[in-house]
Parts: sequence; structure tokens; C-alpha cells
Amino acid sequence: VVCVAEQFDFFYFVQQWPGSYCDTKKSCCYPTTGKPAADFGIHGLWPNNKDGSYPSNCDPNNPFDQSEISDLRSSMQKEWPTLACPSGNGITFWTHEWEKHGTCSESFIDQHGYFAAALNLKKKINLLQALESAGIQPNGDSYTLQNIKGAVKDATGFTPFIECNVDESGNSQLYQVYLCVDTSGSDLIECPVFPHGKCGAQIEFPTF
Ligand code: 5GP
Ligand code: 5GP
Ligand code: 5GP
Repeated sequence: VVCVAEQFDFFYFVQQWPGSYCDTKKSCCYPTTGKPAADFGIHGLWPNNKDGSYPSNCDPNNPFDQSEISDLRSSMQKEWPTLACPSGNGITFWTHEWEKHGTCSESFIDQHGYFAAALNLKKKINLLQALESAGIQPNGDSYTLQNIKGAVKDATGFTPFIECNVDESGNSQLYQVYLCVDTSGSDLIECPVFPHGKCGAQIEFPTF
């Protein structure tokens, strides 16, 4: 069988605000390793195309193998915590992200490279600090989309996409921040295309 490597144009590096995952109707479960810090966590590093399409589940012959990333495990627990129920140690979440998204990047980076790239991006991009230095704090207050996007742009040099969800009372809130990264997984770039989705005129930034 001839294998043709999956091609893609860039990555979305997606971080989630835990407060906004947890205060929804669906609620959340803390990892078995304990409540995560009140900071953004990694959701994933997702190969994407300039036309908005994206590949997924690219290689069933390259399953998640925790022995390849044992050196990254404690950082992953801190920076890439799972909040889905039931509580888990993260393996299920990381397996899902590798198999759905990571395998589509394997012509550029291997499994260790994929997880290390995400961790390095997280270290480079301090979203919470970017927002807080613009007066945008996770204390239940609300902000405009422009304020939030501007704060991230000022701190990183690049315009993010902001994804909102709704809390139990139906308020629009800051859920995920997307930044675009080149195919090496190391450098931020301007997004060739933005995802879709609507935020309210006022966006809450809840506590965690
Ligand atoms: P949702 O239905 O919550 O928007 O997305 C479900 C999943 O689809 C995400 O967690 C992610 O795995 C994938 N996904 C959603 N939007 C995008 C996108 O624009 N690009 C890529 N690569 N994956 C996406
Ligand atoms: P996606 O396909 O959207 O990249 O990944 C979402 C999948 O990972 C879902 O099956 C979800 O249940 C699982 N998951 C596990 N932990 C988390 C978490 O902390 N946040 C999100 N958004 N999904 C999680
Ligand atoms: P514009 O491209 O003119 O800034 O925005 C066009 C539309 O996309 C507006 O409705 C605006 O609210 C929405 N939009 C722009 N940036 C974002 C973003 O980061 N997240 C979301 N959810 N919508 C956005």
C-alpha cells in the first residue's frame, strides 16, 4: 500500500479557559491529579487548511504511545489538564488529540515533537497575563470582543479568534482562544482563515 502524507497549511493552537468549561449546563470533572490552576489550558494543536477544511484521524497505524512522551508527562498534567467527565488522568484526552489531530501532522513532527510543540507554545504565549495587563480579569466581569482580541494582539503580535460558549444562565463567555502557528509547530503566524462562531456583545470572563 502506498501512503501519501497528509498535507495541511497551518495549525490552530487552541487554549481553553477552565472556568468556562465548568460553569456550563454540562459541568466538568477535575482530573484525578487535582484541580488545575486558574489558568488557560491547552485544548489542542490542530492541522488546518487555508480554505477552512481540516484533516482528521490520519493514521490508525500510529496510536498514542505514552512511553514516547514520559519526559513531558508532568508538564502535560499541568498545562494540558482534562476537564471532561468522568475524571481521568489525561490519557484519554491526549490520546484523542493525538489520534484525531496529531496524526495529521506526522509528516512534519513526530509524537514527541507534537506534544513538545504545544507545551512550548503554551510557555511562550501567556494568555492570562496578556488579558490581565489589559485589565481583563477572570472575576465574572464582562468585556467586548474588541477589548479581548486587542489584548491578545498587543501581547503576542497576532490577532486571535475568540470562541464563546454560554454559562448555565445563558451568558456569553470567553471559552477558547485560537492562535495560528506555522507547520513546524513553533512560530505564530497571522491566521489565514478564522473559524466561525458568535460571541455576545458582552463577554463574561468567569472565575475558576
Ligand atoms: P465543536 O463541535 O466543539 O466546534 O468542535 C469539535 C471538535 O472538532 C473540536 O474539538 C476539534 O477537534 C474539531 N474542530 C472544530 N473546529 C475546528 C477547526 O476549525 N479546525 C480543526 N482542525 N478542528 C476543528
Ligand atoms: P476535540 O475533538 O473537540 O478536539 O476534543 C474534544 C474531545 O476531548 C471530546 O470528546 C471531549 O469529551 C474530550 N475532552 C477531554 N477533556 C477535555 C477538556 O478538558 N476540554 C475539552 N474541550 N474536551 C475534552
Ligand atoms: P470583522 O471581521 O468585521 O471584525 O467581524 C465580522 C464578524 O465576525 C462580526 O460579527 C464579529 O463580531 C465577528 N468576529 C470577529 N472576530 C471574532 C472572533 O474572534 N470571535 C468571534 N466569535 N467572532 C468574531
